[in-house]
Amino acid sequence: MRGPQSFENPLCAQTDPEIFFPEGGHNLGKQIKAICGSCEHQVECAEWGLKHERHGVWGGLSEYERRTIRRRRNIIVETIPVEVFLAKTFPRLGDSNYQGNSTT
Ligand code: SF4
Repeated sequence: MRGPQSFENPLCAQTDPEIFFPEGGHNLGKQIKAICGSCEHQVECAEWGLKHERHGVWGGLSEYERRTIRRRRNIIVETIPVEVFLAKTFPRLGDSNYQGNSTT
């Protein structure tokens, strides 16, 4: 299963990422549902979130909605070690030549 870091042009990348981590974890606004509902990766993203993510919105599903579905489908969350997640999400961090965003 592909993770969200490999999705091409996800719609959430075009908006404020903070709205995908709503306070309390379960009160999703119509804006998030509309964005995820229009995203070509919604199904794959939702499945990823069910299997790997405890926080945030994935595929238009809130934390509460994912917990409910997990119980019904007997899904156990497989968290990914943070160093693996960071290496996949920010591959340049492992590059010894990477200088960060320095402009000097
Ligand atoms: S379904 Fe939603 S959270 Fe997942 S990639 Fe698309 S816009 Fe982002």
